[in-house]
Amino acid sequence: MKLAILGSGVPTSSSKKCNSGYLLEVGKIKILIDLGNGVFKNLQKVINPIEVQGLFVSHFLHQDHINDLPPFLSYKGLMTKRAKFRKNAKKPVTIFAGKSFKQSFNLWSQLFPVLFTRVQDLNLIKIKELNPKQIVRLPSLKITCAQMKHTVPCLGYRFEHKGKSIVYSGDAEYSKELVQLAKNTDILLADCTKPEAFTGHMGAKECGQVAREANVKTLVLTHLGMESEQNPKMLKQIAGKYFKGKIIIAKDLMKLNI
Ligand SMILES: [Zn+2]
Repeated sequence: MKLAILGSGVPTSSSKKCNSGYLLEVGKIKILIDLGNGVFKNLQKVINPIEVQGLFVSHFLHQDHINDLPPFLSYKGLMTKRAKFRKNAKKPVTIFAGKSFKQSFNLWSQLFPVLFTRVQDLNLIKIKELNPKQIVRLPSLKITCAQMKHTVPCLGYRFEHKGKSIVYSGDAEYSKELVQLAKNTDILLADCTKPEAFTGHMGAKECGQVAREANVKTLVLTHLGMESEQNPKMLKQIAGKYFKGKIIIAKDLMKLNI
């Protein structure tokens, strides 16, 4: 599996960081995980966006995880007009998200009627709402969902392929559910918005605790707000008190292979 970090920041991060977004590649399968502000542009630096087959959304009530859906869909719609790209661009993308996503999606379609009518007329997307304990099976990929502890409903995801796995916390406080989801995983992408925990988010300590309790191989601290971004050594030191494995501070366009 190949993972590209497309956005490791939050709305207050520097211009070096886009909001939440990741690209997972397993052979020819290309899956986006969240699609926050700026992520679409970084996606274009890595692959042609029409190659994306699926999007897993952690939570859609916080815009920093979903804001680039309109430009992504706009690109896909416009590319269907170009003969060179038409065949691939016309393949639908499946959006996987929690309950009530369709309702949110319908509200967006009212805001941008030209775009969303085109997308719907061309059948460019499918939507699947997920239960917190659902398991999704795609060719050569198993995805397990879990409810995270956040200020709004949020799903964490575990992506598995041939004995390797990547877990994404979305936005999350420490919870037994996250430890369970991350059990023995190769990579944990963990919400470390600020160095210290606050409502709805872990700090470096909690990220380290989850990584230790779950026996994670590599802990990636991501979703880095201003203070976290400015103090990467401190984050590593704090997390390192609780977790003795490998710790990486996420950067946009960083690539990880497992
Ligand atoms: Zn959030």
